[in-house]
Amino acid sequence: MSTPYQGKGRCFGEYRCSQCNRSWMSANSWANYGQECTSCKIMVMPHKQRPLLKPDGLDKSDPNKRHPTELCQKCKALGRPCKQFYN
Ligand SMILES: [Zn+2]
Ligand SMILES: [Zn+2]
Repeated sequence: MSTPYQGKGRCFGEYRCSQCNRSWMSANSWANYGQECTSCKIMVMPHKQRPLLKPDGLDKSDPNKRHPTELCQKCKALGRPCKQFYN
């Protein structure tokens, strides 16, 4: 599976579940990795991706927002939160 973004670091991704039409955004989006839809439990690949303007800028603006590691394919592949992963 491939994504619009093919870089090494994380980026900002927009996702939309084709099954329930739910959409969400993530600042922990990676090339060739998807995130699971919380209600359908299916893997969704980002339809749009762009570089993060400021690394961690979005995380800092909302410190209470947890990265859903159980939904993130990259976290699963790493076996730890991808937020702590830098190249
Ligand atoms: Zn869904
Ligand atoms: Zn992750």
